[in-house]
Amino acid sequence: MIGGKNSAVEAALDLFRGGARVSVVHRGASLGQTVKYWIRPDIENRFKKGEIAAYMNARVLEITKDHVKVAQNGSAREVPAQQVFALTGYHPTMVFFDQLGVQYDGDTLRPQYDPQTFETNVPGVYLAGSVVGGRLNGEVFIENGRFHGEVLMKAIGSRN
Ligand SMILES: Cc1cc2nc3c(=O)[nH]c(=O)nc-3n(C[C@H](O)[C@H](O)[C@H](O)COP(=O)(O)OP(=O)(O)OC[C@H]3O[C@@H](n4cnc5c(N)ncnc54)[C@H](O)[C@@H]3O)c2cc1C
Repeated sequence: MIGGKNSAVEAALDLFRGGARVSVVHRGASLGQTVKYWIRPDIENRFKKGEIAAYMNARVLEITKDHVKVAQNGSAREVPAQQVFALTGYHPTMVFFDQLGVQYDGDTLRPQYDPQTFETNVPGVYLAGSVVGGRLNGEVFIENGRFHGEVLMKAIGSRN
């Protein structure tokens, strides 16, 4: 597993519980700050017990058919691996926004929209869910994103 935030941590735990031998390679000194508080102790205990191997401050140099070459503390080592998952994050593609004419901040990729209605700068085009966070998609999660639809449907209803 390459990565050290929620996706990598959850996948590592699921794979471990499914019977896989799992190694986590993360470029940071410790897991990401945003790892959920109820998941963090689980993975950290797996690390402590040696049930999941943790390579922190580590960088992947090469992926081959049966191992991953990892650089750590100035030296390289080969970690055996039949499968490699690079769960290293993502940001949304802007192609659709560009096609629609939806404006967004070049740095955060956060689209321009009215938080009262979720309508963008393009009349009649509404956004809901994590897409409104742009690159900062951790700001919108299930508990708050699920209310967007209700707000925008009311806004659409009041237009007609
Ligand atoms: C590992 C992980 C753990 C998480 N844990 C939690 C948690 O414990 N609690 C919590 O509240 N949140 C959690 N989240 C966040 C939560 O999953 C998201 O906030 C939520 O799924 C966002 O919902 P959404 O509908 O906005 O977007 P998504 O669920 O991402 O849905 C967007 C959909 O749009 C589709 N799509 C994209 N582009 C196009 C296009 N051009 N045309 C058509 N379809 C398109 C995609 O295929 C996708 O199906 C977690 C996320 C991750 C990655």
